[in-house]
Amino acid sequence: NMAIEYLLSNQKITQTSYENWLKEVTPLSMDSQTIIIATRDEFVLQWLSDKYTNIIENAIEEVIGEKLNVQFVLENTEPQIEEPSFVTNQNHIQNDFSEVDNINTAYSQTPQQQFTSQVAPNYELSNLNEFYTFDNFIVGDGNQFSYNISLSVAQNPGKKYNPLFLYGGSGLGKTHLMQAIGHYILQQNPNTKITYVTCETFLNDFINNIIREKNNNEFRRKYRDVDVLLVDDIQFLAGKEKIQEEFFHTFNHLYSLNKQIVITSDAPPTELSKLTERLISRFSWGIITDMQPLDIETRIAILNKKVEMLNSDEYFPSDVIEYVASQFELNVRELEGGLNRVLAYASIYGARDINLDLAVEALKGFSKKSSEKMSILRIQKIVAKYFQISVEDLQSKTRKQPLTTYRQIAIYLCKELTDNSLQKIGQNFGKRDHTTIMHAVDKIEELRKKDKEIDALIHELKNQL
Ligand code: ADP
Ligand code: MG
Repeated sequence: NMAIEYLLSNQKITQTSYENWLKEVTPLSMDSQTIIIATRDEFVLQWLSDKYTNIIENAIEEVIGEKLNVQFVLENTEPQIEEPSFVTNQNHIQNDFSEVDNINTAYSQTPQQQFTSQVAPNYELSNLNEFYTFDNFIVGDGNQFSYNISLSVAQNPGKKYNPLFLYGGSGLGKTHLMQAIGHYILQQNPNTKITYVTCETFLNDFINNIIREKNNNEFRRKYRDVDVLLVDDIQFLAGKEKIQEEFFHTFNHLYSLNKQIVITSDAPPTELSKLTERLISRFSWGIITDMQPLDIETRIAILNKKVEMLNSDEYFPSDVIEYVASQFELNVRELEGGLNRVLAYASIYGARDINLDLAVEALKGFSKKSSEKMSILRIQKIVAKYFQISVEDLQSKTRKQPLTTYRQIAIYLCKELTDNSLQKIGQNFGKRDHTTIMHAVDKIEELRKKDKEIDALIHELKNQL
């Protein structure tokens, strides 16, 4: 109970999550290693095992200062040790608290949505994020096909491609595109009833209405009395048979009335092995399309759009935009996060101008690319290539000019762009000691201030890195 209180009071979980999942659990037994927690409900059991094991373990550790394994069981059953089905889903158990609550809060009403709901009454019901429109969606090779299909669905809801099944990796714009369909349809016909839900909401609603209250009218009304149903992240239904069955009936009902259904998933239907066959076969009745990572030009365009929408006074030079775009190849959410980080960095560290140096600093060790790929050797290679010398030259003891300056530049970049100690950098430059390294860094810093050409050169090298 203390652990749960800790979670609530520190807003690690929302009140809604607590009501849905944790309110009725009871501790069954505890020894020095394991605490067993019971629940009466099979669905709750599955959900808790999937999503809350780590969260509760961490909370217990916070509160009592000791790590205990948490195991959930059905009440009145013998505790099972290492039940395999608990383990299969461990992959997407989060190690920190943030993700689960993001799921819960991401689509709660925002002030903007309340505002738009005054414009069109069905906005509020639809639960759409006002930014996720076709207008705000940048089209590139990776998403062109899905975009065209989505637009076509939006123009002919229920008539052309039904269901539409969109899949692709995290952060590639599935939710955005799906909601854009909703916006478009609502704009054409404000009386359309649109429901957007994540699968978690679908599951929550199902449990609240059917299991808890033994009354499924409200649930049925919400999901069956609609013109367009947008169901996000269907992979969450994997392995949960009862709820899949309910979704199957919902699907059939809407489909038979020619109501548009749009589904997203992180994997194609054929790879959703834990969904029942009949559900998977339904998905292929319409059209299945995927979202792929975007090329650098598209990523730059997305950042420019985002800057435009930020409406901030800050000026983002194009080399900064290019640098940020180059650091996040696979996930647009992270790409946007990178931009925000640069912006935050500029304001936190004394209202600094946004330039390439600042961007590099802000994203140092933050973007996957910079932490994985930026190594001393990589910097040496790029610098050597740039000055048409060899890496061995950089590592040698030779003190001839201009080699010495080239070496100092490489050392400077290593200090700036990696987390290596001066000593470590020294070892990689012909076993020089840390004072020599420090001297090189100071020297280049000074040169940059005095000499515009050197400064530009360092910029160029950073760009190439
Ligand atoms: P997914 O649902 O595939 O995980 P989202 O739709 O949530 O991804 O997209 C993550 C973020 O990236 C959102 O803020 C979204 O607006 C933005 N985004 C993704 N693709 C694009 C795009 N092509 N143009 C503009 N913004 C995009
Ligand atoms: Mg999504």
